[in-house]
Amino acid sequence: MAKLPVREYPDPVLKQKAQPVTVFGDELKKLAQDMAETMYANDGVGLAAPQVGLSLRFITLDVAAGEDRGKEFLALANPVVVQGEGVLPWEEGCLSLPGMTVKTRRKAHVIVEAQDLNGNRIVLEGDELMAVALQHEIDHLDGVLLLDHASPLKKRMLLRDYARDKKRSMEE
Ligand code: ZN
Repeated sequence: MAKLPVREYPDPVLKQKAQPVTVFGDELKKLAQDMAETMYANDGVGLAAPQVGLSLRFITLDVAAGEDRGKEFLALANPVVVQGEGVLPWEEGCLSLPGMTVKTRRKAHVIVEAQDLNGNRIVLEGDELMAVALQHEIDHLDGVLLLDHASPLKKRMLLRDYARDKKRSMEE
């Protein structure tokens, strides 16, 4: 396995609409392993392929905490939210927007259709953090970032702070 570098905003790959996964084989399994290692190394709940520079509709997730990390690992190809209901206010961060948190309103309960690593169709349901993580990662596949959930004014403020923090971290 190899840990991959995480692309950060404003990397253009993050704004692209990703391409469907059409080949299910060893290469996809290797990608799942590399993304898992990258996600765990960064303490992430989820990771989308565009975040490691691949414009592909593929995500990894693990919403378990502490000792249970690794037990709820999921790798999903071509995930789509087919049903969503309720409203869930949340505060989210993103590995591609280090240092930023955004208050969002997500669907409280979602049903997602996807394919597993062998191309088999799977259906899963999510509430709470799982619902948020699924929506967050699927957003990445459409080039939608947390920033896009903020109002235009809030977005300007977030970007100003982000640019300042990024400049500072480059100077350190
Ligand atoms: Zn993200």
